[in-house]
Amino acid sequence: MFALRVLHEPARAPATPPTSVRLSLTDRCDLACVYCRPGKNDGYFDDVLDLAAWKTMVNGLVQAGVRRVRLTGGEPLLHPQAVAMVAYLASLGLDDLALTTNATRLSRLARPLRDAGLHRLNVSLDTLDAARFARMTRGGKLARVLDGIEAARAVGFESIKLNAVVVRGENDEEIEAIVRWCWERGLVPRLLEVMAIGEGAKLADRVVTAAEMRVRLAHLLEPQDGEREANRGPAKYVRARHDASKRVGFITGTSDTYCKGCDRLRVASDGTLRPCLATNDGVAAGDLARAGDERRVVAAIGEAWAKKPDGDVWKGCTEDEAAKVSIRSIGG
Ligand code: SAM
Repeated sequence: MFALRVLHEPARAPATPPTSVRLSLTDRCDLACVYCRPGKNDGYFDDVLDLAAWKTMVNGLVQAGVRRVRLTGGEPLLHPQAVAMVAYLASLGLDDLALTTNATRLSRLARPLRDAGLHRLNVSLDTLDAARFARMTRGGKLARVLDGIEAARAVGFESIKLNAVVVRGENDEEIEAIVRWCWERGLVPRLLEVMAIGEGAKLADRVVTAAEMRVRLAHLLEPQDGEREANRGPAKYVRARHDASKRVGFITGTSDTYCKGCDRLRVASDGTLRPCLATNDGVAAGDLARAGDERRVVAAIGEAWAKKPDGDVWKGCTEDEAAKVSIRSIGG
C-alpha cells in the first residue's frame, strides 16, 4: 500500500556528520509487543558491549559530532548498568540525553535515572486496559507500567512523552482516552502508525494512518498541520483546541516516511553501527570499542554514516528488506 521510494543513483555520504544517536543498550526485552517481535524466544546477541566498551563507543560518537543521545533497546532498563551509563553520558555535557522505556522497571529506577542526569523520558504504552495490554505485549502487567509512570512524574523530568502504537481492531478506539489520560497527567501523547518493519510488516491491514487519527480526534485538536520540534525527531505536534499548552504528536512511519530529514545513527548492543532502522545494513565496531580504539571507532562511524539513506538516494531499503529487520535488536 505504501511503497518505499526507490531511486537508482550512486551512493554518496550525507553532507553533515551525525549529531543524533540512539544507543541500544541491550537487545533484551521483558515484553513481546505484537508489532515488534514474534515472541520472547526470538534470540538475543551472544556478545554485547560492556560499560567500558560503551564508553569508548560514546567517546568516538562525540568526537564524530554527536550532541544528542537516546538510550533505547530492547528494554534499556533491563541493563544492570543503565544508571551508570546515564551518569557517564551526563558527564559529557550533551545537548540532549533521553531514554525510551516500557516502564516495567521505572518505579525503582526513575529517581536514580533523574539523579544521574537524564533529561527526558519517553514511555511506550499502547493501552490503558490491563487485558489488552497483556494481549498486545504478550503477558505484560499494566499496573507495573502505571506505577513506573507515576514514579517518573514525581521526580520531575524535563518532559515525559507517551508513545502509543495504534493497531486497528485492537487499541484504535482508545486513542481519545489515551490522549485525555496523558493531558490530565502533564504527559505529551504521541500516536504512532505501525511501521512495516519486522513484525510490523505483517500488520499492513491494521495500520491506522495519522490522517485517520486526526479525523477521529478533530473535535479535540486545532485543524492546522502539525509542526516538528527542532532537533526532536519526526513527530509532528498538533495543539489542543482552546488550550495551547496541550499537544498530540503523530509519527507517520508508514503513510509519510521521514527518511529525508533523518539525522540519526544507531548503535546496536553488539556494537554494530546502524545507519537506518529499516535496513540490516551496518558497520561492525564492537571489537574496536572493546579494544578501546577510539580513533578507529570514529573511522567506523564515518563509514556507517556514508551508508545512510538520505531520502533521495537509494541505498538498499526496500519493503522486503525492512520486513527482515528486528527493531528490538537495532534499537527502536
Ligand atoms: N523497550 C523500549 C520501549 O518499549 O520503549 C525501547 C525499545 S522499543 C523497540 C522502541 C519503540 O519502538 C516503542 O515505542 C515501540 O512501540 C516502537 N515500535 C516497535 N516496533 C514498531 C513498529 N513495527 N511500528 C511502530 N513502532 C514500533
